[in-house]
Amino acid sequence: MAASLVLVINCGSSSIKFALVDTADGEFPLHGMAERLNSPQAVIHWVIGDQRRDVALPDGDHKAALAALLPHVQEFAGDRLVAIGHRVVHGGEAFTEACVVDAAAHRAISAAAALAPLHNPANLLGIDAAAALFPALPQVAVFDTAFHQTLPPHAYRYALPEALYTEQGVRRYGFHGTSHNYVTARAAAMQGVPVDASAWLSAHLGNGCSTCAVLNGRSVDTSMGFTPLEGLVMGTRSGDVDPNLHGFLARELGWDLERIDSLLNRESGLLGLSGLSNDMRTLEQARADGHAGATLAIEVFCYRLAKSLAALACALPRLDGLVFTGGIGENSVLVRERTVAHLQLFNLRLDAERNRRCVGGTSGPIQADGSAAILVVPTNEELQIAMETRACVQAMAA
Ligand code: AMP
Repeated sequence: MAASLVLVINCGSSSIKFALVDTADGEFPLHGMAERLNSPQAVIHWVIGDQRRDVALPDGDHKAALAALLPHVQEFAGDRLVAIGHRVVHGGEAFTEACVVDAAAHRAISAAAALAPLHNPANLLGIDAAAALFPALPQVAVFDTAFHQTLPPHAYRYALPEALYTEQGVRRYGFHGTSHNYVTARAAAMQGVPVDASAWLSAHLGNGCSTCAVLNGRSVDTSMGFTPLEGLVMGTRSGDVDPNLHGFLARELGWDLERIDSLLNRESGLLGLSGLSNDMRTLEQARADGHAGATLAIEVFCYRLAKSLAALACALPRLDGLVFTGGIGENSVLVRERTVAHLQLFNLRLDAERNRRCVGGTSGPIQADGSAAILVVPTNEELQIAMETRACVQAMAA
């Protein structure tokens, strides 16, 4: 049997999501998550075939969690494991595509940690732990930012003095690249158009949210910027605010940077607006029960999303369609309806029944007859990471 399995690892500061992906058929024979690492409550949740298991791993760290994974992966994969693919959040300008992690790549990922201090060090922990446990296998890094390295300067530069860009790397990078890449390629396949001759607007709406304009398979603009805070309203992130807000909060309330950082990243967005929850399901229910905060949060979320899509349309010469993905994009009939209602100028209109049908992993077109295409496409970042990992290893061997 051809070697087609890739172990995909997504390390957070206290968690690891993992999936053994069969790139031949897109199946995940084994997947799960380790969470609360480095605490007495550390635990691994597994799904192996149709069995579910929860294994306590008191005070286990990243290496302990991966070590617990190892025998199961070996049992399943035997000699069919090709490589380990790691999601790495920030590749800075050094990485325009996935790469095998050699010493130079390791140094560059480490250098990009200045731009993603919470994420890149955790991603490196995963790479180091996996390399120690699977020394014979290539470790491949797949970057959230790499897909957006095709942005032209007029889309990625801020109107700031040049030295901040040239000396400090202050520019727009964009994130969720793996997902935007995957869903727009799928959308092109669903519509029967070649991806390298297609034009899409993509909305990835999960706990983090971003939009992306994709022309001929390349990202040409996106809503997230220097960090994943810029752009849309998200679960707990504010998205765009007037940058003078920082000065106001410091002067008027005496807040320091840490307090402001926490406000904008953890206390704002849907949670801050609604005063209730960051979870769209909870907010939809509360809206149905007449909760004013939840109603406002959803309205602001959808209006800001539509405004971002309209702005990104400037980057496209034409439009093959709009793609919704992520937990909210794949499931929220209401958010899709409220958002598209603001986009009539672009000849985008929904069919209510088709919109209702595309939930819970069902993909398909949801536009009304005569409208430009609007597609729901479930994202599959693990599969995309696995495919890029395999391609990278094959290119290295060629
Ligand atoms: P993700 O980060 O992609 O897992 O997405 C998480 C978001 O998707 C949360 O705000 C969830 O409330 C939202 N979500 C998941 N399922 C549904 C659903 N059936 N209806 C509305 N929102 C949903």
